[in-house]
Amino acid sequence: MPDMTPPGQPEPFDALVVGAGFAGLYALHKLRDQMGLRVRVYEAGGGVGGTWYWNRYPGARCDIESHQYSYSFSEQLQQEWHWSEKYAAQPEILRYLEHVAERFDLTRDITFNTRISGARFDEANGEWILEVAGQPVARAPFLISALGTLSAPKPPEYPGFDRFRGQVYVTGTWPHEGVDFTGQRVAVIGTGASGVQAIPEIAKQAAQLTVFQRTPNFATPSRNGPMTADYEQSIKSRYAALRRQARESFGGIPFDQIQPSALAVSAQERRQVYERCYAEGGFRLFFDSFADLLLDPEANRTAAEFVHEKIRSRVKDPAVAALLCPRDHPYGTKRPPLEVDYYETYNRDNVQLVDLHRTPIVEIMPLGIRTGEREYPLDSIVLATGFDASTGPLLRMNVRGRGGLRLNDKWATARARIWESPCRAFRTCSSSPGRRARQCSTTCRWRSRTTSSGRPTASPICANVAFPPSSRPWTPKTAGSPTPTRSPKARCCRAPTPGTWAPTCRASRARRWCIWAAPRPTGKSATRWQRTAIEALRWLLARLLRNPLTGAFPGRSGPGQRPRRSAVFDGSRAGPCRGFPTCVGSNLHRV
Ligand SMILES: Cc1cc2nc3c(=O)[nH]c(=O)nc-3n(C[C@H](O)[C@H](O)[C@H](O)COP(=O)(O)OP(=O)(O)OC[C@H]3O[C@@H](n4cnc5c(N)ncnc54)[C@H](O)[C@@H]3O)c2cc1C
Repeated sequence: MPDMTPPGQPEPFDALVVGAGFAGLYALHKLRDQMGLRVRVYEAGGGVGGTWYWNRYPGARCDIESHQYSYSFSEQLQQEWHWSEKYAAQPEILRYLEHVAERFDLTRDITFNTRISGARFDEANGEWILEVAGQPVARAPFLISALGTLSAPKPPEYPGFDRFRGQVYVTGTWPHEGVDFTGQRVAVIGTGASGVQAIPEIAKQAAQLTVFQRTPNFATPSRNGPMTADYEQSIKSRYAALRRQARESFGGIPFDQIQPSALAVSAQERRQVYERCYAEGGFRLFFDSFADLLLDPEANRTAAEFVHEKIRSRVKDPAVAALLCPRDHPYGTKRPPLEVDYYETYNRDNVQLVDLHRTPIVEIMPLGIRTGEREYPLDSIVLATGFDASTGPLLRMNVRGRGGLRLNDKWATARARIWESPCRAFRTCSSSPGRRARQCSTTCRWRSRTTSSGRPTASPICANVAFPPSSRPWTPKTAGSPTPTRSPKARCCRAPTPGTWAPTCRASRARRWCIWAAPRPTGKSATRWQRTAIEALRWLLARLLRNPLTGAFPGRSGPGQRPRRSAVFDGSRAGPCRGFPTCVGSNLHRV
């Protein structure tokens, strides 16, 4: 049908999607082809792929095995597509997404090279209006944000980049034609997941590579390798079961050998489990070893020490190894990157490591980087400094809800972003991309972290009911105190017996260890599990409530305390908030 929209007026649709990565492509297929809606997708990039369109740095690859890191909505697609490696590299993942777009005829409804500069809710008509360069372009009752959580690279923090005479590259917006570092003096700033992947590859080319590290990470081997015919067959013959298992597991990976506690076994048994996980690679050490690594600091320390030991055994220079061992955060509280020969790279003669805690970068000079100690002459600088993660892309889109309320104002504080309820004023809800979308109930949002067998792998955290933004920080109940009427127990689960396994909210098939309904376990009445879980929850909450600017913990602020970055900011829990009345999430269950 020809477009009858008068010039200058926003074109009407049933649903609008922003972003054409994994989530946006699936949203388009679901809404258009399965639900029969009229849909338009807007994408800032020149093609589909999202993360895999932008992140073309050397070494970029997924760290979830490709047979899992792929769509499950079409049996034919998952049976026919062949991954060449266990963990596909960026070009292959991009080819896959381009294939999906072509196979399901998606590109005809995507407008590329178009950045949405504003999303305004028109209360009179109950519609969202999207703007490009300030001009309205489209309107629809439903808006799906498929902006991604890692699509807004962080701007450089150091002064002087404009005068640097060499080249500056950002891993998150890597040149499509690639970069040849042969013979160059190169700096990589940042040792997060992207840095850990790029550093070994750049070191193979560069004449001299200087790595500027602020925070070391608990990187463990991926054990990537070619996809063998047998392995592929074993997956494709039980794909449905693997997908189901993944959906029901913490982390979305179908591992099944996890044991309850690192402290319940002998040191020798623990070691065997860690060695098995390290040898098999991937996220096994984190997800498939012991369930209490994120619950019990003592259990966590055993895993951290194991990784430290591995780092020391792989890096020849003990001083460099010491710098590479993370000591400022417990294992797994930042996503542990997967690596291929990352630590061995520091044994090369052309690689040096600079500890930014000891000698911070002062400024970027025309010919290099100056730290507090010396200047490093350079030809190229690679910024692997990460993203304005989770909420960054949404905040940059300038979303305005009821009464012109700006999401940026509503989420002005990190605490508001963490605790805001997505459900109150939004007709639908926000969750992770459709690939692994978890249905969200309007009354509760348990993030139940359980394995498929029902064991917890981390604490269940209710981001909605228990801690409204205005409430006081949680304090554990004392024995005998009445159950508050707004407790998660009251609204989220069917009267569980304290200290037993109970179903989580009605949206989830998982089960959780019910500690909320229990009086605070004390003395002999408490099991070790309950005590450690309660303590871990208190520890996690203290971190979540920490002031992100000063790093101060509640009740522990004061002069002289070292500012720290907020390590526990999980944007997937940062739902949209009151005043923004329709869906800015990617969960399609309720659309
Ligand atoms: C290097 C790297 C490796 C990763 N590896 C894994 C992995 O192994 N496993 C895993 O689970 N996750 C991984 N991730 C996370 C990854 O981002 C997600 O898995 C997934 O690709 C996200 O898909 P998405 O469609 O939600 O968002 P994205 O792929 O980020 O797509 C969002 C799209 O929205 C567009 N956009 C943003 N703002 C606007 C705007 N205002 N107007 C128009 N368009 C806009 C962007 O251009 C982008 O194309 C990785 C991330 C990175 C950066």
